[in-house]
Parts: sequence; structure tokens; C-alpha cells
Amino acid sequence: MSVYLDYQSSKPVDPRVVEAMLPYFRENFGNPSALHREGDSATEVLEASRRTIARFIGANPEEIIFTSGATEANNHALIGYALRNKDKGNHIVISEIEHISIHNIAKYLERNGFTVSRIPVDQYGRVSIEKLAERVNERTVMVSIGYANNEIGTIQPVSEIGQFCRKRNIAFHSDAVAAQGLLPIDVKKENIDMLSMSSNDLYGPKGLGVLYVADTIRVNPIIIGGGQERGLRSGTENIAAIAGMKRAVEIVEQEMEDEVRRFTQYRDRLIREVLTAVPRCYLNGHPVMRLPNNAHFRFDGIEGESLLLSFKEQSIAVSTGSACSSRTLEPSHTLIALGLLHEEAHGSLEVTFGRYNKDGDVDAILQVLPAVVQRLRQMSPLYKE
Ligand code: PMP
Repeated sequence: MSVYLDYQSSKPVDPRVVEAMLPYFRENFGNPSALHREGDSATEVLEASRRTIARFIGANPEEIIFTSGATEANNHALIGYALRNKDKGNHIVISEIEHISIHNIAKYLERNGFTVSRIPVDQYGRVSIEKLAERVNERTVMVSIGYANNEIGTIQPVSEIGQFCRKRNIAFHSDAVAAQGLLPIDVKKENIDMLSMSSNDLYGPKGLGVLYVADTIRVNPIIIGGGQERGLRSGTENIAAIAGMKRAVEIVEQEMEDEVRRFTQYRDRLIREVLTAVPRCYLNGHPVMRLPNNAHFRFDGIEGESLLLSFKEQSIAVSTGSACSSRTLEPSHTLIALGLLHEEAHGSLEVTFGRYNKDGDVDAILQVLPAVVQRLRQMSPLYKE
């Protein structure tokens, strides 16, 4: 029997979501831009989904733009805002542990006349307002800090960052992919001007995301065409996926509290028992301000990849870090930003729980981990007791 503990990289689509999507492939196949009944039924679900997602994050429906995923939402937020507001300034602040998409968009903006500051984080991966204050200047137009980190699970002081930016009239964007469905998000209370989300991270289909843009904020479109989504994101809407994301959000709204309680128990038990059972093993990320479903360990003298492959032999799926870049041999930029050495970063293992995990899955990993670590250390020429 296989055990899946890599929910951060991909989630199955909830069968209830699949059910909600099916009619939109078959009888309700209309295009929302069309004026006949088929078009009307597509428009209905499009707008209902927009309302549901808006309610979920405390936004207004007109502030929700459907995109092809969080990568596109991040592109739209950073490039769309930077271009629209370039007369006000050309400086953007991100943190050193942003998702690879934010880092690469920032580099693109640098090649196109913008300047970017990357603020360091503390040893647990937290951004501080002091470091932010050191970097902003009169040319700063935008700050982009992820709500929580997708690798080490550290949660950022989002409300404080929002307040800081609001006072200085700087737009605040947050990639909320890792946090959505696990932490309550309220964009108005938290002074968030733009927020990126992904459908798959809520057990909806891949290839759909959302960008929330506050009605006080102006962004340029980055996908130009027939003028859908109020001209901000052209292209025929992915109605089946949009119907799916609506259902996915409804389920999360009902079940999040119970799920979070369950994940927290799994996480705390796993962390406690691994740190007790395995010598020279450490927790990466914040001990308290961390996502309820995330445990991220570091083992002296071990390659994360060999650990992962040993688990694979036992049909247990775990991760060494970000799925978006885990096929490269470079250590994770997030772990390096915590101040870890390359060899320490390489010895990391990420476990993320999700909807279909059971108590027995924690037992499964606990049964295997200490022996695997011991065997790999015995084989390692670098490891000394
Ligand atoms: N941001 C974060 C934090 C992510 O983890 C991911 C990947 N799930 C993305 C953005 C990109 O999402 P997508 O692949 O849906 O574009």
C-alpha cells in the first residue's frame, strides 16, 4: 500500500469536485461570452464561482480574476502592477525565500528597467518589518511576500507587512498558494492588495488560479485578446475548472477546521518522534509559526535524494523540497537563505500532509525513517558518529 506525503507538490482532485465539473464538459459546454442559453449557464457558474472565492478570502467578486494558475497570477501581479505604475517608481521588494516564479519574474523585471531588493529572513524563515523598512525607498511601488513558505512551512507576519505597506502607499502582493485552505485569509483585514491562489492546492483541478486585485489597485493585463475578465485576462474561461474550484472552496470552507486539527496532530507527532528517535536531526522552519501540515527535517551526513529513494522503495512518497525545482541539483534557495551550508541543505526532507492521510501514514514513516537514516549514515564516508 502506498503512502503519499507530498501534498505540497500536488493534490488529487476531490471526487466531489470532479462531480461538479462533469456537466461543464458535457451538457453545459457554453461559452460565457455567448448570449444564448448555453452561454448563460456558463456565465452563471463563472459568476457564482467568483462570488464563492471572493467570500473565502474576504474580497468582493469584482476583485477576482481567473488565471491559468498561480504562476500566471504572480506574473500578472508583479509585471502588471510594475508596468501600470512605472511612473510612480521602479523599485520592488521581495524576500529571499519567495517561490521560484516570483524570483524569476523579479529577474525579468530587472532586465526591463526595474530594481529589486531581496530581503533576508531569519534562521526560521521569517521576514521582519525592520529588514523591510531598511529596503523601501521613495521609488518603491510594490512588496511581494508569500503568505507562507511552500518548502519549510514558515508563516509570515502578513498583517504587519500589510499595515506597513498601506501606511507608505506601497502595494502589497502575497502568493498564498501554500497557505490557502490551511490558514484563514482575509485580504481586507490584512491590507493585502493582490493575492495569488491556485485551484489544485484546494483539491481542485490543475491549470486554474486566481489573482485577487483590490478595487483600489490598477494593473495592466499581461494576456491580451478578446477582453474577458473585464479586459484584465483574455481568453475563453476554463468553465469546468472554474466550477470545480467553486466546489473545492465550498468543501474547504466546511472542512478546514477539522482538517487543520487532524494535520496538526500528525505534524506534531511526527516532529516530536523523529527528533527523539534520530540523532543529529533538526527541524527546518519555524517551530510555531508553521503550516499545520508541514514537517521539514535536516539530517547530518545524509543526502535528501537517497533518503527519498529509500522511501520510494517502501512506496512512501516524500520530497526533498520544492517540486518546482527539485529535479535540479542546486540546493534549495530557501534553505540557503536560512543560513544553511550546501551540504546541510542537501540533507533535507519535506513531509506535507493532506486530505487523504490517515493515522497509519504517520506510523508508516516513523517505522521506516530511523533505520533508513542509520543505514545511509553507515554507508556515508562523510558521516562520523
Ligand atoms: N506559488 C507557490 C507557493 C507554489 O507552491 C506554486 C506551485 N504549486 C506556484 C506558485 C505555481 O503554481 P502553478 O503551478 O499553479 O502555476
